[in-house]
Amino acid sequence: MNIKERKRKIAKKAPRLTEIIRGTLIKWRQQCGKPNCKCHKLKNYRHGPYWRISYGLNNRMHHLCVPASSKERIKIMIENYNKLWKAIEKISLLNIRHVRSGK
Ligand SMILES: [Zn+2]
Repeated sequence: MNIKERKRKIAKKAPRLTEIIRGTLIKWRQQCGKPNCKCHKLKNYRHGPYWRISYGLNNRMHHLCVPASSKERIKIMIENYNKLWKAIEKISLLNIRHVRSGK
């Protein structure tokens, strides 16, 4: 397979640019405000699980709580972000190789 074909194959397999999230999905459990609730006694009784996206922006970490019903879709979008980056890196290296070969 020549470089052009390899690039085309990588680009075809890559996720869509519109379906990405740069961040981490975090699962957490919480103690509530009621002092007599059993969630204050044992970690297992904490409320949740809840989900949030953690992402860095302008040198700060941000968090966004998301409904459990969205978590699978968000996981896929986070995976897509990483896959897309890998595809970009591979194509960039192929382009460098192509430029180096002087063709
Ligand atoms: Zn509680």
